[in-house]
Amino acid sequence: MDRMTPEQRHRCMSHIRSKDTQPEWLVRRSVHAMGFRYRLHVKGLPGKPDLVLPRHRKIIFVHGCFWHAHGCRAAQRPPATHQRFWKEKFAANVRRDRQVLRQLWQAGWQVLVVWECETQEPERLRATLAAFLAPATRPANYELADQHTLYGQAAEFPEDYGR
Ligand SMILES: [Zn+2]
Repeated sequence: MDRMTPEQRHRCMSHIRSKDTQPEWLVRRSVHAMGFRYRLHVKGLPGKPDLVLPRHRKIIFVHGCFWHAHGCRAAQRPPATHQRFWKEKFAANVRRDRQVLRQLWQAGWQVLVVWECETQEPERLRATLAAFLAPATRPANYELADQHTLYGQAAEFPEDYGR
């Protein structure tokens, strides 16, 4: 029955794990509980966004603090070896994230980036998601833009993103 080689199975399993990481699952569960439906990992959009709400024209990314170089404590542990390699790798990730956000904004999407560390505080996570997904999004979101919510026009792009 199972015709996969061990290598294939391993690839398959690690693929699944990378898609259903705990932080993303927490966000999905929260959004779903609020009554919103979404599409997952939409390939046709820049950055293959984690959650897409086409009808609301909204997108949610769940970023791992380490790989996306968040400025929080979880991300402050650079590997001890090959530091230069890692530095360049993280810089490239941040550059790519910025570019993806710009492209999505220019296409008229509102985008929320939820950081992995934020998913560990359920109350705060729910509040952030609720504010972003509320119908009267624009005024409500100005406040959030100061924190971690990135959305709207390319002109609103905070220069310190990813620092
Ligand atoms: Zn973080």
